[in-house]
Amino acid sequence: MTRYIFVVGGVMSGVGKGATTSAIGALLRCKGYSVTSVKIDPYINVDAGTMNPTEHGEVFVTVDGDETDQDIGNYERFLDTNITSVNYMTTGRVYMSVIERERAMGYKGKCVQVVPDVPNEVISRIEAAGKNAKADFVLIEIGGTVGEYENILFLEAARMLKLRQPKSVLSVLVSYLPVPSSIGEMKTKPTQHAVRTLNGTGIQPDLIVCRSVRVVDEVRKEKIGVYCNVAAEDVISAPDIQTIYEIPLLFDEQKVADRIFKKFGMHARKNDLAPWKKLVHTIKNAKREVKIAVVGKYFATGGFVLADSYISVIEAIKHGAWAHGVKPILTWVSSEEYETNPGKLKELAQFDGIVVPGGFGSRGIEGNISAIKYARMHKIPYFGLCYGLQMAVIEFARSVCGIADAHTQEVEPKTPNPVVHFMAGQKEKISNGKFGGTMRLGAYECELKQGSLARRAYGAKLISERHRHRYEVNNEYRELLQKKGLVLSGMNPTLDLVEIIELPRDKHPWFVGVQFHPEFQSRPLRPHPLFVSFIKAALVARRA
Ligand code: GLN
Repeated sequence: MTRYIFVVGGVMSGVGKGATTSAIGALLRCKGYSVTSVKIDPYINVDAGTMNPTEHGEVFVTVDGDETDQDIGNYERFLDTNITSVNYMTTGRVYMSVIERERAMGYKGKCVQVVPDVPNEVISRIEAAGKNAKADFVLIEIGGTVGEYENILFLEAARMLKLRQPKSVLSVLVSYLPVPSSIGEMKTKPTQHAVRTLNGTGIQPDLIVCRSVRVVDEVRKEKIGVYCNVAAEDVISAPDIQTIYEIPLLFDEQKVADRIFKKFGMHARKNDLAPWKKLVHTIKNAKREVKIAVVGKYFATGGFVLADSYISVIEAIKHGAWAHGVKPILTWVSSEEYETNPGKLKELAQFDGIVVPGGFGSRGIEGNISAIKYARMHKIPYFGLCYGLQMAVIEFARSVCGIADAHTQEVEPKTPNPVVHFMAGQKEKISNGKFGGTMRLGAYECELKQGSLARRAYGAKLISERHRHRYEVNNEYRELLQKKGLVLSGMNPTLDLVEIIELPRDKHPWFVGVQFHPEFQSRPLRPHPLFVSFIKAALVARRA
């Protein structure tokens, strides 16, 4: 029997529904159960692929090539499992299925209605995700906050599923408790209102997770319990903490899994939190530092810095650092600044490693290329991800191969030297206005060259990594690039595409570019080999 746990947000967004959902999942796994997580995004977009990262955060790519929400990345990191397309839905996707089924006479002449047909489609997707993962528990995170018009049909799905299977559905409200500085006291009223609003949709929360800057004390737990109609033990304190990977431990201290088991009439099968305890111990006790610069452009939103655009990259760097027991110090550097003020490039000398993550378009590109040149010339460990590989190839073609006008067709469509060019079929897709879901997406195999840095890092000949791009290294320049010393250390064996480039060890301590996104496959308890290898090189560079 599969159990379903819906996670909804109250008071405001951005308080950590994703981390809460992931942590509950991790905890249930530690207790011996199989878990999968579903993310529901209430917007009309069919997927996250058509949204600007500063608008929506990172686009997380699944093995099967879906462009999803960054929360799916959280689930993968906490559950240490691959989540596939069936676990992700948006309003756009749900309506599209309903309309397509109606067009195919799938409703057999009946009047198709918003309720119950749309929530029914949501429920069947949730059930399919559970079946696909053979999960004991399916956690379903509903995007947005209660009271928003957008997610009402998803709450309706939660209500209807509970009505159908009362013994196998629970709801968790993740709320926020402000501590206004003028009063210095934690206020519970907004949470009470959130619960009322949720009650208005026919849902009573079974657990209330209280996010706040501080710990929720017993007095307030009692108060929330009484006003919100739950036992005080079901009010869970989730204060701000140093690392999100501590949340499963924090929840375990408050017996979250036991409360869930009790409500479902179940018991823990085991209690294996040791790996999380070890990780958190490392994170909290790491003293030696490694300083990494992430040079990119999706940082600014108005007056704020939004590191969410690169969340998987950031997490993967951290995982790599913790694998060596060191503390990662990350600095965001805006590539555009190097274009207006090239003198600023010198600041890169203070870092032990430089990462250029993925990206699109022309903004900040020359700044990135200058940063890569700096890393190459000054022998600072460099890791280029996707666009970061493409720009490293452009830089190498310009500086080392002497092709001054080498470029990518993405920025300079008419360049005489497109060292990076459209992949087969991509140009046509774009010209026909087919942007959504049409890049090279998902996992592809890559064969590693004997003796290469990449091969040593992975310790394997054949690997599989996730992709999201329209452009690739132009095979016509392969010979020249290699002649001038660039090592093409990873190739797609069937499509003959360059997947990894690197510089030989006698030329540079660690200079690697990958056409894929290794960051999507890095897990806190299973750090990605390339990030581990990169940080190792950065530590060596630091000691020198
Ligand atoms: N813009 C580049 C491309 O489409 C790189 C994409 C990326 O970095 N994800 O090929």
